[in-house]
Amino acid sequence: MSSTTVVWFRRDLRVADHPALLAAAEGADRALGLFVLDPRLLRASGTPRVEFLHRCLRDLDGKLGGRLMIATGDPAEVVPRVARSVGAQEVHVSADAGPYGRERDEAVAAEVELVRSGSPYAVTPGRITKSDGTPYRVFTPFKRAWEDHGWRAPAHTNRSTVDWVEPAKSEELPAGEGLPDVTRLWRRFRDEKLPDYAEHRDRPDLDGTSRFSAFLKWGVVHPRTLLADLGGDEGSRTFRSELCWRDFYADVLWHNPDSARHNLDRRFDRMALDEDGERFAAWCEGRTGYPFVDAGMRQLLAEGWMHNRVRMVVASFLVKDLHLPWWWGARHFMRHLVDGDLASNQHGWQWAAGTGTDAAPYFRVFNPVTQGEKFDPDGDYVRRYVPELRDVPGRRVHRPHDPIVDHAEERREALARYEAIKG
Ligand code: FAD
Repeated sequence: MSSTTVVWFRRDLRVADHPALLAAAEGADRALGLFVLDPRLLRASGTPRVEFLHRCLRDLDGKLGGRLMIATGDPAEVVPRVARSVGAQEVHVSADAGPYGRERDEAVAAEVELVRSGSPYAVTPGRITKSDGTPYRVFTPFKRAWEDHGWRAPAHTNRSTVDWVEPAKSEELPAGEGLPDVTRLWRRFRDEKLPDYAEHRDRPDLDGTSRFSAFLKWGVVHPRTLLADLGGDEGSRTFRSELCWRDFYADVLWHNPDSARHNLDRRFDRMALDEDGERFAAWCEGRTGYPFVDAGMRQLLAEGWMHNRVRMVVASFLVKDLHLPWWWGARHFMRHLVDGDLASNQHGWQWAAGTGTDAAPYFRVFNPVTQGEKFDPDGDYVRRYVPELRDVPGRRVHRPHDPIVDHAEERREALARYEAIKG
């Protein structure tokens, strides 16, 4: 008698290099591919992220020959029901490491046999610890251990690894576009941009990074696939290190699920913070009068993406110049970023706020003017996003323009507030 299993897709919306597909094909003759639109997750996502998810799902559906089943509801109810409807004994997934995903999967696993193969990371969160078994909180030693540990070679899977079952019924996704060919995009980046990546990655005026963050977030491509394609040159080494940051933050969140909402360093719970809604609105809308900050915030609103260097500068500005809670900024980012990802975002914010994993935490106060002059030396990035400054030539464009606060003063204030809680 032929057997059917279920592959429940979540943050692994691809068919290449997909260990759970191998496990499904080994255990059964055919599989139903399922994606659950979970209202709890959708409520927390902004429009750019949801639209991008729909694009990923259309793309995956195409790869499954139009046989992806889409269902809305609580996965703890939907997944066991779908499994029963096709007589599946097991449900195959890539493991989820996030706080909500882990809890959700426990609830599903109480109802149906959940088989976890692989994860969205090169090294599964929680696997790398110090020799005494405790987790790393500083990046550089984590990276050393991560490289020593290494990762598996890509799994050989493709659209025909599994014989996909036609679902009895499926919800329709809104009409729209799919995704570009990610393999072709990667090859172009590897051949044209990677050689200069180490030098250009900090320059928002140049298009020097991969723009793969949203693909990685949804698992359209696995980081292992990219790692296998990197060499020993400087560009490759730097890119590998960025992928390690992604694994690192997932690992920190895995060990400290509360750090999605609270300071990793709980000493900062005593820090005096302001609650100025007007200043926050000026920051959100790119009206701080610091052109580099304003350009970043406007890039976010216009494109659902912001360059990493500018993310660090605008985050530092919110926390150390405006003295506002980092989680206000993190929430704004999650609402607007197409690549919004709990681990990278909350810990990117905590790093900038000095409450997280930065080894030299609070003293680092980015100067928004000199950062602009250094990383956008001709001012092209600012002029691209701040139209009212388009006539200001060269790097002069970075000069504050009717600023809402004085950076030097607020820097002193931030350090004074830090002194008060230090101990
Ligand atoms: P590339 O330079 O091409 O890097 C390749 C990949 O490495 C990225 O796609 C990403 O997956 C990973 N990566 C690079 N830098 C980092 C980093 N600092 N931390 C973790 N992973 C990294 N990244 C997200 O994916 N989602 C977020 O929600 C997010 N929020 C952030 C918030 C703040 C305050 C900061 C400072 C950083 C945040 N980052 C986030 C990290 C980083 O800014 C983006 O991953 C990067 O800008 C994406 O562009 P790219 O794909 O062209 O990067």
